[in-house]
Amino acid sequence: MLEMQQEMRKVAKELLESGEATVVIGWEKGALPYQTSPVLIRSAEETEKLVWDEYCQQNLSNYLIDFVYSDEKVAIFAKGCDTRAFNRLVQDKRIKAEQFTVIGVPCPGMKDRKQAAKGVADVPLAKACQECRYPNPVYANRTLGQPVTPRATAPDYSDVEAIEAMSADEKAKFWQEQYSKCIRCYACRNVCPACNCTNCIFDQSKSGWQSKDINASENQFYGITRAFHVAGRCIECGQCDMVCPSDVPIMLMNKKAKKDLDQLFGQYDAGLETESLIPLGRYDVNDPEEFM
Ligand code: SF4
Ligand code: SF4
Ligand code: SF4
Repeated sequence: MLEMQQEMRKVAKELLESGEATVVIGWEKGALPYQTSPVLIRSAEETEKLVWDEYCQQNLSNYLIDFVYSDEKVAIFAKGCDTRAFNRLVQDKRIKAEQFTVIGVPCPGMKDRKQAAKGVADVPLAKACQECRYPNPVYANRTLGQPVTPRATAPDYSDVEAIEAMSADEKAKFWQEQYSKCIRCYACRNVCPACNCTNCIFDQSKSGWQSKDINASENQFYGITRAFHVAGRCIECGQCDMVCPSDVPIMLMNKKAKKDLDQLFGQYDAGLETESLIPLGRYDVNDPEEFM
């Protein structure tokens, strides 16, 4: 990874010195070994801050939304999941691809920083990375290094199937327990590239759609609404799980939605390109409608 880090610093320096970019978005080291975080680099001298280590899991593409109305020339380093997020934002018309320079970085998989924070000796890969099928950039203006071999070739739904095997009462109890831990910090929404509405339902306090009460029922309404809103659009980066301070298994619900959609409409992996309509974004008279 050190070799790639050197290459990233070199490329960032070239972009800033040539004026091709006025800001480069990458990762920098935090105070603790597992605290790698996003950073904006604006000068050649600052490029020494850039790191590429086993904790660069944060998805950087969301930061591009802040530059849509800016004159800055933005370059961004992007792993497989960052580029799927990039396509997600393009497809949602939140950003324009041609406005940004994407430098692809093949990803070896990132470690679970929550486990690292607990002091686990042999820190495993983050769950999303263990199951990642697209570690190589799916869109980039240029790509560094060599492609890596994906860890998985098909979605792993074993965790979803374990929940499906429960009785209705057991499922209700399970989710009630999970969402009674939620503190409605909205970190899972804020970090999510698929949750990119300019006016989120959960910020419309006078709409009457939901209350600000923090209890299992209201929290579950939040969780279910978010799962429906990202259904067919989630790019499987696992950032929602990673940022949740209460360890709510958010991805489990998103995976259930994906599993059902795959079954109903054929496998669709969001963010691989920007042309085809998402499963819930198109209509066919032959669509299954058992619920009608
Ligand atoms: S989800 Fe894939 S691309 Fe993203 S950090 Fe994990 S292994 Fe890398
Ligand atoms: S729902 Fe979670 S895994 Fe899916 S795109 Fe959003 S943050 Fe990533
Ligand atoms: S990140 Fe966790 S605690 Fe915060 S709103 Fe989401 S589910 Fe709730």
